[in-house]
Amino acid sequence: MKNKFNNKSKVLEMILNRLDCHVYWKNKQGYYVWCNKKLANILGLKNENDIIGKTDYELFSSDLAQAVVTLDKSIFNEGKEYQTEEIGFDSENRKAIYLSIKAPIKDEFENVDGLIGISIDITSRKQSEIAKQEFLMNMAHDLRTPLSGIIGLSYIQSKEGTTAEDRQHGQWIQDAGNQLLELLNLVLEVSAAEHQIENITTDTIHLQQTAEELKALMQPAATAKGLDFQVKLDKQLPLIITDQIKLKRLVLNLLANAIKFTKEGKICLEINLLAIEKNQAKIEILISDTGIGIAEDKLDKIFDRFYRGHPSYQAEYRGYGIGLFLVKKSVELLGGKINVASEKGKGSCFTLEFSFPLAEKTIEPSFELPQSSLPQSETNKETEAVLIAEDNTLVLYAVKNILIKLGYEVTTVTEGKAALEALQNQSFDWALLDIGLPDLEGTEVASLYRQWEQENNKPHLPIFALTAHSINKIKEECEQVGFDYILNKPFTEKDVQIINLFLKKKN
Ligand code: ADP
Repeated sequence: MKNKFNNKSKVLEMILNRLDCHVYWKNKQGYYVWCNKKLANILGLKNENDIIGKTDYELFSSDLAQAVVTLDKSIFNEGKEYQTEEIGFDSENRKAIYLSIKAPIKDEFENVDGLIGISIDITSRKQSEIAKQEFLMNMAHDLRTPLSGIIGLSYIQSKEGTTAEDRQHGQWIQDAGNQLLELLNLVLEVSAAEHQIENITTDTIHLQQTAEELKALMQPAATAKGLDFQVKLDKQLPLIITDQIKLKRLVLNLLANAIKFTKEGKICLEINLLAIEKNQAKIEILISDTGIGIAEDKLDKIFDRFYRGHPSYQAEYRGYGIGLFLVKKSVELLGGKINVASEKGKGSCFTLEFSFPLAEKTIEPSFELPQSSLPQSETNKETEAVLIAEDNTLVLYAVKNILIKLGYEVTTVTEGKAALEALQNQSFDWALLDIGLPDLEGTEVASLYRQWEQENNKPHLPIFALTAHSINKIKEECEQVGFDYILNKPFTEKDVQIINLFLKKKN
C-alpha cells in the first residue's frame, strides 16, 4: 500500500515537473513550501527544494512581491479560489503576463492553511489579442470611411434623383450601405465584448421612463406586423443606477427578436421590483412573445456567438446570430442573469434579473438623446454659419450637401491648419472637425483653438468631432481637448438634429 502511495506521489511530481506552467505551494505565513521545476528554473534556483522557506520579497522585485502578497492575503482571509492576471517575468527576464489560478488549502477544521497556485504565461496570447483588436479597429475605421461616403451620396440621390427610378436606386444603395454598417458595428461590438474592453457608465435611471421610451421605439415595428405590444410596470419602481445605454440596448435587442419571431398575437415588456435589500433594488425584466418559440434542445445554444435557429439561406428571419450573445455579455457586465423559457409554437419568455444600486432622488439630464424626442428636421430659419473640416472628398461633399439643403452657410476645408486659421479669422456658429486630418489631427486643431479662444477671451464655440473610429476609443481624448460632442460617420440629417438639440440644451 505504502509503496503504491509513494509511487503515486512520484508520478504526480513527474507530471507537475513536465507541465509548461508554474506550480507552487505556499504556507499561510507566505513562505514557499514547494514549486515545480519550471518555476525553479525561471527563478534561477538550482533545485526545486531551494525555494523552501523563501518569501516573494526574496524572489521578486518589491513591487511585484507586494502585488502577489496582497492577492494571497485575500485568499487567506476569504478562503476562496481566485483566477487573475499577474505581472511577472519569463526565463529571459522579460516582463510577462501570467494567468494565475490560486486556491486555498484548508486543514481538517476548514481553516486556511496555505495556498496552491498555477501560473500560465499568457503573454503571447495577450499580444496577439491586442494585435487582433487593433487590426479590427483599423479595418473598421477604414471600411467606415468609404461606406459613409456611399451612404451620404446615395441619400442625396434618394432625395434628388431626377426620376422616380433614380431616387429608388439611391434608396436601395442607402439601405444596403446601412445594412453593411450595422453588420460592421455588430462585429466590433462582439470583439469588444469578447475582450471585455467595454466601460460601464453609471446613470440614474427612471425605469418607467425607460420602458416608455423603449415602447415608443418598438411600437411601429409591432404595429406593422399587427402585433399587440403590452407594457406592464410595477407601480413601485425606484430610481436606480446602471449603464443606461447598455440596458436599453439589450432590452431593445430582445424586443426586436420578440417581434421578429412572432407572426400573430402579442409581445410584452414587464418590469417588476422583487425586493429592496441593503440599498440595492432587485429588478426583474421580462420580455415575452407568442411567436414561433424555441425547441428545447436549442435553448442552451441560442446565446452562443453566431448561433442562428434559421440559417441565412432560409431568408424568412434575417439575422447574424450575434444579438443574444451580446445581450448575455451586457447582462453579465451589468451584474445580472438571463434565462429563457420557451415552447415551440407557443412563444418565448426571456427573464432578466438584476441587483441595481438605488439612486438618490435626482436625475441628471442625460447626454444620450432619445431618438423619439428628436425634432423633425426643419430648415434652418436664421442662417447659421458652420465650418466643416474633412479630407475625404466624398464625405465632405455629402455633409456639405446635407447642411446646405437645411439652409446653413457652409465653409469647407480639407486640412487641419486651414481649419485652425478659418476658426480664428472667421465667425462661425459651430464647427464640425474630422479627427483624421492630413496635417494637424482634428484633436490638435480643437486643442489649439481652445487655447487661442481662452487667451483671446472669445465666447465658447461649439465644436463637434466627426469620426469613423468607434466613439468609445476616442471619447476621453476628445473630451480632454475640448470637443463638445462626438458624432460617428456617416453624417446624416439625424446628426444635424442631435447638434441642434445639443445647442438648445446648452442655451
Ligand atoms: P439572430 O436573431 O440574429 O439570428 P440572435 O442571437 O438574436 O440572432 O438569436 C439567436 C437565435 O435564437 C435566433 O436565430 C432564433 O433562432 C432564436 N431566438 C431568439 N429570440 C427568439 C424569440 N423571441 N423567439 C424565437 N426564437 C428566438
